[in-house]
Amino acid sequence: MKKLTLFKLSALTALGLIATASSASAQRTTIFFGCGFTQTAQNAAGGNSNIRANINAGVRNTNRALNPSQTSARLRGRSYALFPNYSEAGKDVGSALGDWRRRRSIIGNTAAGQTQLQFENQIRADFMMLIVKAGGGGGNGQATPDSGYSCILQGRATQPTFPHEIGHNVSALHSHANTMAKTPQNRLPRTQVTLLGSAGRGYSDVAPRYSNPNVRYRRARTGVAGSRENALRIFRSRVARAAIR
Ligand SMILES: [Zn+2]
Repeated sequence: MKKLTLFKLSALTALGLIATASSASAQRTTIFFGCGFTQTAQNAAGGNSNIRANINAGVRNTNRALNPSQTSARLRGRSYALFPNYSEAGKDVGSALGDWRRRRSIIGNTAAGQTQLQFENQIRADFMMLIVKAGGGGGNGQATPDSGYSCILQGRATQPTFPHEIGHNVSALHSHANTMAKTPQNRLPRTQVTLLGSAGRGYSDVAPRYSNPNVRYRRARTGVAGSRENALRIFRSRVARAAIR
């Protein structure tokens, strides 16, 4: 334990980020998270309490990746709500995110847009995720980098997709240099596995880490020294991201 503390301190001090252990803990930043979900997503999850439990699992999984990655950031759930009048018709994850991010439905002064605006103003969360069922293509989840908006399929709330998209929201990128070194999976041009990258036993074997060359998972470094590192990107952007709205 002592060794770990010293290692963590020396690594951060070398990067010029902190001077002392006390300042490290003082700079810990909480990002408050709000989540909306559609009626079809709630139904697919098996009801309101189920989808809420899934979102809480996603928050826990995100912190299980943020904490050991030494990002000094943590995610807290603030409020979750059903958006009964938010229509998924004709949308995939990408187009649903576009509407959610721009509150596009407000332009037509729709009930859905008004509900969203009211919710956001009420809960004052830094980040807003929308969970949809989305019949069409468009992937498992998408985030607009650094915007505080993301959207995922309801079936992915309990999976690495959740901390992956939140990672994008706090400046993390897809890059081979950002992910675990020395595992053949990560050398493949598969962008979906480079943020919370594969731990080396296939695409479903995800390392619960944001890449950091000073942090190992199963004895392998989770990042590449001297290159862009997602844990460092999150550390540097966390205060600004926590004040996004
Ligand atoms: Zn991604």
